[in-house]
Amino acid sequence: MSQYRTFTAADAVEYARQFGGVSDPSSLIDSEEVGDGNLNLVFKIFDRSGVSRVIIKQALPYVRCVGESWPLTLDRARIEAEVLRIHGHYCPDHTVKILHYDADLAVMVMEDLSHLAIWRGEQVKGLDYPQAATQLGEYLAQTLFHTSDFYQHPHQKKADVIRFTNPELCDITEELFFNEPYEVHERNGYPRELEPLIATLRDDDELRLKVAGLKHRFLSHAEALLHGDVHSGSIFVGEGTLKVIDAEFGYYGPIGFDVGSALGNLLINYCALPGLLPPREAADVREKRLNDVRALWQSFAEGFLALAAEKSRDRALAYSGYGAAFLRKVWCDTLGFCGTELIRRTVGMSQVADIKSIDDEAMKAGCVSQAVTLGRTLILAAEHVEDIEALIARIRQNG
Ligand code: ADP
Ligand code: MG
Repeated sequence: MSQYRTFTAADAVEYARQFGGVSDPSSLIDSEEVGDGNLNLVFKIFDRSGVSRVIIKQALPYVRCVGESWPLTLDRARIEAEVLRIHGHYCPDHTVKILHYDADLAVMVMEDLSHLAIWRGEQVKGLDYPQAATQLGEYLAQTLFHTSDFYQHPHQKKADVIRFTNPELCDITEELFFNEPYEVHERNGYPRELEPLIATLRDDDELRLKVAGLKHRFLSHAEALLHGDVHSGSIFVGEGTLKVIDAEFGYYGPIGFDVGSALGNLLINYCALPGLLPPREAADVREKRLNDVRALWQSFAEGFLALAAEKSRDRALAYSGYGAAFLRKVWCDTLGFCGTELIRRTVGMSQVADIKSIDDEAMKAGCVSQAVTLGRTLILAAEHVEDIEALIARIRQNG
């Protein structure tokens, strides 16, 4: 008997005792709702000594940060749990472990990562996790290669495209990523003095055509089972460790979307650092962030190429050189989607702590302006940026 009802803190404890997989379930006695996200309830379940042991996440039938006026499918919990299970199968080291999922309750029970920290928060403080970008590149290479046509049986791939068709969540991305920042829209939010700069996004035909192309690829290129929202707020890091969470936006889409989202968030932090830290420290950490950008792409590209060479099952796609040719297209997509991520997180609705934490308003406007300008450059120049070193040179030129 599990008809949908919104969990109370006590329900969450009871559920964790049943499905948390702990050896001493009666020691779980307390819970706290910690969801700082925009959409769902997240409960930490504590034992008698006050240690958090299990996480319970429940989808609400609406968008949490907006309210009941914006209904949203509960099926997103299934998508999240199943994407994370598949990603966990191919990349167990860097995917949060799902212990249990219940469709009627839209609830999943997962491994507790409270001993780690959300990467965005660490980046806002200027902290460096030197291995994290390489590990995120590995996660992207493993999950995206193994769910693609290079590796999947063609019947399985087509069945999975259907199983992970995620219209309501994709609709959010389609609006927030590709439409609203380029229109006058009530959900946009940016420093008022930047209006002239933001107006240039709306009025730039060349840019609008490139964004149309990116959106069209997001809508139609079912290349791999994406995470769909792999930003630094969906990633836990610790010393030598990285774990990805929160895959409810997962669907079959263009590989460059995930890689570009991940890179874009590193670059938002890069642009925000002068507003977050004193000048010399900011300059130092910016160099580390550029190293992260390089490490992320290299690790993804090398990982994907190695897998394509060793494990491609499709005989045509396995033909020598095709993996590299495909990766070239993924690189161009990555730069474009990275540009749209920079713009949507600074102009659109989904604002990030990197920018919100800047106290000085003039400084904040300067950082947003830099992110928007970089985003625009990347969208326009995507096909002309030769390689990762050329990208880093462009970022430095941007200021
Ligand atoms: P939403 O889908 O609503 O954005 P998230 O999955 O991002 O929710 O989770 C919101 C917050 O809950 C995270 O930022 C983190 O603080 C906490 N959280 C989520 N999953 C875990 C976990 N497995 N271990 C520890 N904390 C978690
Ligand atoms: Mg989420």
